[in-house]
Order: sequence, then C-alpha cells, then structure tokens
Amino acid sequence: MLAVTFQEPGRVALEERPEPRIENAGDAIVKVEAAGICGSDLHIYHGRVPIEQGFTIGHEYVGTVLETGDAVTSIATGDRVLGAFHTACGTCFFCRLGVYQKCDMTRVFGHGATLGSLQGTQAEQTLVPHADMTLRRVPDGLGDGAALFAGDAMATGYHGVVGAGLEAGDTCAVIGLGPVGLCAVMSARVAGASRIRAIDTVAERLEVARSLGAEPVHATEEDPRAAAKAATDGRGLDVVVEAVGDPRALDLACRLARKAGTVSVVGVYAERAEVHMGIVWIKALRLVTGHANVIGHLDSVLALMASGRLDPEPLVTHRMPLQEAAEAYAIYDRREALKIVLEA
Ligand SMILES: [Zn+2]
Ligand SMILES: [Zn+2]
Repeated sequence: MLAVTFQEPGRVALEERPEPRIENAGDAIVKVEAAGICGSDLHIYHGRVPIEQGFTIGHEYVGTVLETGDAVTSIATGDRVLGAFHTACGTCFFCRLGVYQKCDMTRVFGHGATLGSLQGTQAEQTLVPHADMTLRRVPDGLGDGAALFAGDAMATGYHGVVGAGLEAGDTCAVIGLGPVGLCAVMSARVAGASRIRAIDTVAERLEVARSLGAEPVHATEEDPRAAAKAATDGRGLDVVVEAVGDPRALDLACRLARKAGTVSVVGVYAERAEVHMGIVWIKALRLVTGHANVIGHLDSVLALMASGRLDPEPLVTHRMPLQEAAEAYAIYDRREALKIVLEA
C-alpha cells in the first residue's frame, strides 16, 4: 500500500509499505479514504518534532473498517468511521478519570517512536489500536471533509471553549485563526457566547471568522485590548482561547481576560515560555492547558456536526490525491491552505 513518509526536514515521500495486520484483539484496520494535513504535521515536516526517516505521518482520517480484532464491539467490518488523533486504553487511572488525553498508554498516530510508534494515517490503510475507544461511526450525511475534523481540530476547538467552561451569554476571544481557532469560534457560537472577538493577522482568516459570526480584530493594525474592553464595558472577556502556541499570544490572552476569567491554552507548548504571573495572580485568572480531551468530546462534537450546528466543511480549501502529498505539504507550508484533504 502507499503511505506518505517523512524523509528529512522539508521533504516527504510516497512509499510502498506492507499492509497493516491485526496485532491485538482490540485493533481494527481501516481503509483510509480521506486524511487531513494538520499544523502538527508541519512541525514534523520542518524537523521541529523529530521522527524516524521513513515513518508514515498523518493523524486525521476517515475511512471504512476492513477488519476488526475479536474484542472490538462498537464497530464492524464495512462501517464508515472516523477516529481520534490518538489512542486511549479506557482502563488506566487517567482513562477512568475521563482524562483520556493523558492515558498512560496513549499513542499518537504518525509521530514516531517518542509518541508510541504508531504509523500515521496518510496512507491507504491504517492500524487502529483500542478501536472501541478511538473510532466512531460517521453519522449519516456527514461528508469526509467535515468528518475528519471531529477527531482533531474540531474536538480541540470545542475543548478550548466548552471544556474551559464557557457558558451561554459569556463573552470570549479566540487568538489565532487556523483550523483549530476557527473551530473554537464555531464552538463558542454553538455554546451561546454573546460576543466573539476573533484575533489574527491574516485578512482571509479574519473574513472566515466574520462569516462564522465572530467580530474580527486585526492583531497589529487594530488594538485587541481596546476591542475587548469595548465589548465588555471595560471589564475584559470571560474566556480567552489561545490557539497559537506562542508566548506573545499567551500574554495577550492574559491581558484580554477579565478578573477571575479563564485563559484556555490549546496552542502547543513543549518548551519553557514566560507568563506574567503577576497579571495571572492579581487578576485571579484560571489557566486551562494541555492536549484537548478529544475522545471525551467526540460524541458531543459528532452529534453537533450531524445536526449541522457545527460545520467545518467550509474550512476545507484543498482536496488532492494522496499521490500528490509532497505538493500538498509545500502548499500548506506556504500557508496557502486552511485544510488540505488527501484522498486515497
Ligand atoms: Zn492535528
Ligand atoms: Zn488509559
């Protein structure tokens, strides 16, 4: 079968790989029909997240179940499924707490040996461990492009807003309008936010946010702090989502939030970054951080997508055959695409 593999920084290749085989009773094998390219794939592409040469990448996927192990009960051969970007065992201490993203045995698709040596999903087939936890049937009527958001970008945006405690009537801002930030804007709308300030520097992304019901604010040509104050009688916002993963965005988030407000950090941090603890402490801010609980939110997100209340399909800007993966990565790297779907 064909698979997209990492070769060296700036280069991926299409290579022939052996078809996966069931290894454990909880496994399933999925024939991948659509796989997304995500911002975290770009970290691998640039060599910032080191993985082995020849490792299959990708972690967003929709497809059809080809085979299941004997212990799999929730899906069956022939089902059209989507999956979370990582696996969870369902039985460890953290899974029993419902914090599936911190499962002791979690493995992330397409991230090499450091995250569990699980081959990626930008391939014609993929092995899915703990299939009962990781996979869901795609609701009728939901297209591939929308469905592959559920297991990563949409669940993460939803976690950043609803998981952080936003309630109907709250004001909020989303900093960073990539796919996750735009999914956070949609989720805030669905959760009943009264005002949504959407902050970025890219005009097209600000326009998409406007079409989703947010009030766009250019991060440098306008004054986000003034905009936050104007929306709240000078008080500051109830919830601010940081969807960039940059200390400057985090600092801005802390300044936009009201006293005793929430700063929700879904942007990725792996290194030391400074936060002005004086501001956090004086304002009594609540910081919510870490990987999204994608598996925990998956059923809610799918129900909202099935009803059309969450619809990420407009964020798909490119559809390309798997064979053109190298070109697709180059386009994504030039920031000419929001979401590229590779079709096998
Ligand atoms: Zn991702
Ligand atoms: Zn677990």
